[in-house]
Amino acid sequence: MEIAIAGLAGCQAVANIRRGIQLRPSTRDRLVPPSLPIVETFHSLQGEGLHAGRSAFFIRLAGCTVGCPWCDTKHSWPASAHPLRPLNKLVGEARDAAAAGAAFVVITGGEPLHHDLDGLCTALRQASHSEGGKGADGGLPAGQAQQTGLPLPLPLHLETSGVDPLSGQFDWITLSPKRHRPPPTSCWRPASQLAGGGWRPPASSP
Ligand code: SF4
Repeated sequence: MEIAIAGLAGCQAVANIRRGIQLRPSTRDRLVPPSLPIVETFHSLQGEGLHAGRSAFFIRLAGCTVGCPWCDTKHSWPASAHPLRPLNKLVGEARDAAAAGAAFVVITGGEPLHHDLDGLCTALRQASHSEGGKGADGGLPAGQAQQTGLPLPLPLHLETSGVDPLSGQFDWITLSPKRHRPPPTSCWRPASQLAGGGWRPPASSP
């Protein structure tokens, strides 16, 4: 696992935590939502961080209680103001975006970890593996698709403030902690490996 710091404006110190991180054990017996409240989905270029400029499919989940005064997505705060979208519909949209050139999926918000993301991540990964990414590779089986060097399955990225325990499995996590709601160390212990400047979890936190 590789951890790097990338600076962002304001109070945001961002830790990009790379590759296959799962910070709590899988909880198969938990209820996994079949749908999630969605503010918007869109295919665009990543605008910040080490992946800036790369083509990505964004899923902006609704709901945030962190309450940053400078927030530029306050419309995302009330989850109930946004319609639920089934996971299979989100998977279909991600597949279409992959066919159009998206290199990865970004799950953002709002605060996406207010929701259990196990189901969404599993659905996105299973679809990539089982359907071979229709469009981008002409519908080849996953094994063949990977042999051709096509970008399957799409890597999953998460953008979070870290106020909630991690759910889901991600290839890249952008942690943007807030001073007024710091992430609990128990949830983000790997961030203690951060080097250089920026946010670090307090050593005495639970
Ligand atoms: S965590 Fe993000 S979405 Fe939530 S209030 Fe802060 S900046 Fe806005």
